[in-house]
Amino acid sequence: MKKITIIVPCYNEQEVLPLFFEEIQKQFNPTYLFQLVFVDDGSKDQTLSIIRDYAKQYSFVKYISFSRNFGKESAMLAGLKAAKDLNSDAAIIIDADLQHPPVLIKEMITYFEEGYKHIYARQNNREKESFIRTFFALAFYRVYAFFTGFKNMNQGAVDFCLIDRDVIDAFLEIKDVNRFTKGIFSWVGYEKKCLDFDHTPRAAGHTKWSFWGLWKYAFLGIKQFSRFYLFLFSLLLVIGFGFFAVDIILDISRQTFSYVSLKLDVFIILILLGLRTITKLLYDIRDQSLNRPIYLTKESNISHDTH
Ligand code: UDP
Ligand code: MG
Repeated sequence: MKKITIIVPCYNEQEVLPLFFEEIQKQFNPTYLFQLVFVDDGSKDQTLSIIRDYAKQYSFVKYISFSRNFGKESAMLAGLKAAKDLNSDAAIIIDADLQHPPVLIKEMITYFEEGYKHIYARQNNREKESFIRTFFALAFYRVYAFFTGFKNMNQGAVDFCLIDRDVIDAFLEIKDVNRFTKGIFSWVGYEKKCLDFDHTPRAAGHTKWSFWGLWKYAFLGIKQFSRFYLFLFSLLLVIGFGFFAVDIILDISRQTFSYVSLKLDVFIILILLGLRTITKLLYDIRDQSLNRPIYLTKESNISHDTH
């Protein structure tokens, strides 16, 4: 019987977890062996004790608990490592808040049977979200495609997906410290299928994302698979040449003092911007070469040799 592992990243989800647990079990199709892997991302509420209780009662419940909050990206990585340790044929990643409709799992499995290796969900109406959030979310996919050259990441794509063992293995080969999971799936390739669903509000609890948090996440995603810093320097170069061209057109001898001082100010800003970018790049290189663990597990009921 094929094994499907459902990975659920959880951060302070005590309100919604019982609802989720009830809903997800309705999707357990008897032709497969289902397992749930809850990844407690350093929750400060009762999330971990609720998960522990489930694990005591049901053998299909596995869990990993982090020593602190490492972020959803790390939780998804830990879940996929667990899926490999549990010798799964496929893994499903789903949010705990029921914003990713569990009923879609049935359709995902149908496409999995047809041979698709990566079936992901796309949210197709965002009207309940604020205008500004929708605008940035939509702009992101265009900007991402522009910088990385990957056109196979769909507008509105969410982390909810089913991936088969080949994709799990490929994903785990990517050792980047700063991770953008959707970007990694886009980069690894394989036959993809997109399923649409309507935006649903959270069943309970509240979002963990601030606007600034999302902004930083989007930037991380773009720079992980692009030469963003090089682009920025090229832009600085174009601005520099622009000033050079203006000098020639205006004839340097006719330049007024204020123009010269403005130019000086702009150049100082450009140089500082350039230095900041180099510093940022050096930190990225340092982070990767230090090879620190991406997350730390304080408790789990999965042993590495489980099959
Ligand atoms: N999550 C996590 N670690 C975090 C933030 C979120 O594991 O640091 C989990 C969270 O419990 C949920 C999923 O990631 O299952 C999506 O989070 P959220 O609903 O806050 O994000 P949104 O749906 O608003 O994008
Ligand atoms: Mg959510």
